[in-house]
Amino acid sequence: MRPMDSPILQDKPPLGQILVADDSPVFRDMLQKMLLEWGYETIAVSDGRQAWDLLRQENGPRLALLDWMMPGMEGAEVCRQVRAGVRDRYVYMILLSVRAGLDDVVTGIESGADDYIVKPFEVDELHARVRAGRRVLALQEELVEAREALRDQATRDGLTGLWNRTAIFDILQNELARSGRSGEPLIVLMADLDGFKPVNDRFGHMAGDAVLRQVAARMRAAVRRYDAVGRYGGEEFLIVLPRCERVGGLALAERIRHAIGAECFRAGDVEIRLTCSLGAACARPPVVPLADDLVREADAALYRAKHQGRDRVEGAAGG
Ligand code: GH3
Ligand code: MG
Ligand code: MG
Repeated sequence: MRPMDSPILQDKPPLGQILVADDSPVFRDMLQKMLLEWGYETIAVSDGRQAWDLLRQENGPRLALLDWMMPGMEGAEVCRQVRAGVRDRYVYMILLSVRAGLDDVVTGIESGADDYIVKPFEVDELHARVRAGRRVLALQEELVEAREALRDQATRDGLTGLWNRTAIFDILQNELARSGRSGEPLIVLMADLDGFKPVNDRFGHMAGDAVLRQVAARMRAAVRRYDAVGRYGGEEFLIVLPRCERVGGLALAERIRHAIGAECFRAGDVEIRLTCSLGAACARPPVVPLADDLVREADAALYRAKHQGRDRVEGAAGG
C-alpha cells in the first residue's frame, strides 16, 4: 500500500525505502513494524557504519531513522558524514536518542540531523515527524524536476528534441578545446534539407513539422553515440563528430544523406520524399580553428553541394 501522507506525495513516484539504524534488535523491529504498518518500505541495519555504507550509495535511502548510540559509528557521526559526502540527493535524517537535554538536541541537529526525537516517544509523534520528512523530500524532488525541465528548455530545440543552436555551438567549442588537448581530429557537418519549402507549401506547416521531427530522429540514429546533433536553423542541422578524421566524417555524412533520402517520411496519410545536402569541415590539431570559422567552412561546402545538384556531400576545400 502506498503512503497517502500528504497531498504533495500523491501520484508521485515512491521516495524509496526508509532506513532504520539501531543496535537494539527489539527497538529496530518495533520501528520497522510501525513503518510497515504506515505503508513505508524499510531497510534495517544494526550499526552506524552499515547505515553510512547504505546512505552513501547512489540511489540509497532518502530518509533515515538513526539511533544516536550505536557501535562502530554513532548516529550523529553518520549525519556528519552524509552532509559532507552525499551530494547527489538530499537525505532526511531523524536522530533518536534517550538524551533529552537541550545541549544534546542542539548537538544532534548541528551534526546535520533534520529532526530529533527523544526516546521513549509517542507513536503518533514519530508518524508525524516521518510524514514531515517525506513532505520535505517530495518538495525537494519537485524542485529538482523543475530545475531539470528548465535546463532542458534552455538547451533543447522544442520541435525536434535535438540540441538547440546555442547548445550545439557550445558543444562544438568544448569539443574543439578537447581536440586541441588530445590531438584527435574533429568533423563538423552542416546539413540542409533540399527543397523543403515546397513541402510546407504543398502539405502545410504541420506536415513540415512532422517531417522535421522524423529527420531529427533519423539523424540521431545514424550517428555514433558520442556525436552531437543540433538544429542550427529552420531545416538546417549542425552535427559535431569528435574523434573523427576526414574519411570517417565523409562516410558518416553519406550515411546521414542515405538515412534521409532512402525512405519516405509520413505526415498523416501522405508520404513525402526528401533529400538533404551536407557540407563537411575538419579540425586537425595542433591547429585548431575557431568554432565560427569551422562552421563557416562547413557552410561553404554545403553551399557547393547545393550548387552541384543537391542530395550530395561536399568536403571543405582545405579539409
Ligand atoms: P534548398 O534546397 O535550397 O535548401 O531549398 P529549401 O526550400 O529547402 O530552402 P529554403 O531556405 O528556401 O526554405 C527553407 C524552408 O524551411 C522555409 C521555411 O518555411 C521552412 N521552415 C523553417 N523552419 C521551419 C519549421 O520549424 N517548420 C516548418 N514546417 N517549416 C520550416
Ligand atoms: Mg533547404
Ligand atoms: Mg535552409
